[in-house]
Amino acid sequence: MADHAAQTVHPAQRSVIGACPLDCPDGCSWVVDLEDGQPIKLRANRDHPFTGKSLCSKTSKYLEYTAHPDRLMYPMRRTGPKGSGLFERISWDEALDEIAANLQTTIKQFGGEAIWPYAGSGTVGWIQGIIGSGKRLFHHLGASQHDPNICSVAGHVGMRYTTGSAAGMDPEDLVHSKLILLWGTNTTVTNQHLWPFIKTARENGAVIIVIDPIRTATAKHADIHLPLKPGTDAALALALMRQLVELGAEDQAYLAERTLGWEAFRANELEEYTIAHTAKICGLPEASIMDLAHLMATRRPTGIRTAMGMQRHQGGGQASRVLSCLPAVTGDFQRLGGGICYSTGPTYQLNKDALQRPDLQPYETRSLAMTRLGQGLLDLDDPPIKTLIIWAANPMVSNPDQGRIRKGLSREDLFTVVIENFHTDTVDYADLVLPGTMQTEHADLHDSFSHLYLQWNEPVVAPPGDCRRHTEIFRQLAKRMGLDEPALYASDEDMARDALASEHPALDGITLEQLRERGWARLNWPKPYQPFLEEFFTPSLKFEFQSERAEADGLGRFPHYTPPLEAATDVSDGSLALLSPGNKQLLNSVYAVKSNGSDAVTVTLHPEDIKKRGLTPDSRVRVWNDRGEFGALLLESEAIRPGMALSPKGLWPKFNAGASINATVAERDADMGRGAVYHDNRVFIARANQEEA
Ligand code: SF4
Repeated sequence: MADHAAQTVHPAQRSVIGACPLDCPDGCSWVVDLEDGQPIKLRANRDHPFTGKSLCSKTSKYLEYTAHPDRLMYPMRRTGPKGSGLFERISWDEALDEIAANLQTTIKQFGGEAIWPYAGSGTVGWIQGIIGSGKRLFHHLGASQHDPNICSVAGHVGMRYTTGSAAGMDPEDLVHSKLILLWGTNTTVTNQHLWPFIKTARENGAVIIVIDPIRTATAKHADIHLPLKPGTDAALALALMRQLVELGAEDQAYLAERTLGWEAFRANELEEYTIAHTAKICGLPEASIMDLAHLMATRRPTGIRTAMGMQRHQGGGQASRVLSCLPAVTGDFQRLGGGICYSTGPTYQLNKDALQRPDLQPYETRSLAMTRLGQGLLDLDDPPIKTLIIWAANPMVSNPDQGRIRKGLSREDLFTVVIENFHTDTVDYADLVLPGTMQTEHADLHDSFSHLYLQWNEPVVAPPGDCRRHTEIFRQLAKRMGLDEPALYASDEDMARDALASEHPALDGITLEQLRERGWARLNWPKPYQPFLEEFFTPSLKFEFQSERAEADGLGRFPHYTPPLEAATDVSDGSLALLSPGNKQLLNSVYAVKSNGSDAVTVTLHPEDIKKRGLTPDSRVRVWNDRGEFGALLLESEAIRPGMALSPKGLWPKFNAGASINATVAERDADMGRGAVYHDNRVFIARANQEEA
């Protein structure tokens, strides 16, 4: 085991710097304290400028989680029907031989594209996770390409049309803002290391606004909360722009010099969004829209932090495109503390091609969207998917249209391998299960989507039982298949060096050795990071209200409001718009292994909706639509709007009579990037055992 980044405290005690592997904006740097070679404590790395204060309550118990008695420790082969979860222990040799033979047969009979390498965000590390591990092998085999579109893609695509990047400002610079819009993000819960920066801004006089259909924990801390209808964000932003013009608060010089198509955008897209019309669309009082426009007109700069939930609907890409127009209208992109940040991911500029080696593909292969797994397994026939290799992913829980996922995974002619840490619902459908390592047992390289620090995770203990690293499993598979391409056998460190070997100045001088020494390094962007001071990353180098690229892609010349297909609809059929935000105790479906009373699937309704349906809080209800149904414990809260329902994502169906929220979510695409539409859903709710709403 490597021993870098270790700080000797006592001969028997040392501390090793690592990083949290989970799909969370914060990207924490952590320290593992060891005594006599055993990890005894996990704590925040106090040296880290963004995450140094503390780890979140769920991950501070990560060491205990690695030692959980339910952890998978050895390879297994299915002994019962698919879905039964019945397995027998086998050796690694048996498992690897069987997988290698299956891959070879599939390629021979159906071609490489009949293999779907399906990686998820169970770890977001560049070496073990969705970006790095397995890519070289599956490229070499000519497998279908896996498009990781489940989380944030629509928002990224939307902002690329206007600014060229979703990283419009460094979230740390919100300390300089005079008005902060937390737009569709529950910062104190899901981006908690940003909150101290927001508190500092408030001490400096900033006003904090939360725009969110739910009165979240963050909304309770805000100065003003605007509880708009789900998916109507773009309409609100267009009305704010129209009102800024009415107030004469647009930055005319900036618009003339630094933007493209402003006058045409204003004439074509803003007229319709009067205060009265928008108040109706968004379900907000007219005064609250006018007040916010007035604040934006008088308090410069405005810093906007937005996140992924806002773009998970039919019009999610356009919503992000429209939101990014606000700092162009006010000219705030040129002011420290002004701008918009959706994700700092694009700032990293790691060398993805050197890591993934797409040049190893024998021919151009098809790309399969991960949110369309059900369709891929049930409908594809050119060729059909015959071999599915899943790692760091739990599609039975996390994918839309759970019923179709179950049906697809139940196919008798499908060979499914799942690499996992715990016996998830997805594992239940595997033909072979392989035990993977966890973060304290392997090396990895991490970026973040909330800060500008690159991080290294050093392993601290040997893998327990028969657990193996993802990268090691794929190297061993290559060997079993007799492949002689040297790139398939690169060590984890070599893969990290390849990713760091970028021509981009952001990574200038950052080496693996340096990362190992301190655990993190700030990207070489100027500090403060104001990416659009000189130019935007668009073809015109200006902010593009008018985009020829968007028009050519069929997405309209100008940013506009595309309503959600289901969520914002005013209907009289008794259905409710169902949102599925993160669960406070979980990270996606991670940590849901232990089922107990507090892990119950819940659905929360406004008291009016409970009364209207003759329901009783704390009773069991049935939640359904034409896609599927799940049972839930009914909760009551005035924190959500009438007409809405709320059910946190991530809990495992096996602990909830076989179904959870994604049984009701549609397997269809957002407007951009084939993004997911988890928050664009309508359901009926009635007492358990009752048919009608
Ligand atoms: S889950 Fe998020 S907040 Fe918690 S330790 Fe990991 S990165 Fe930090």
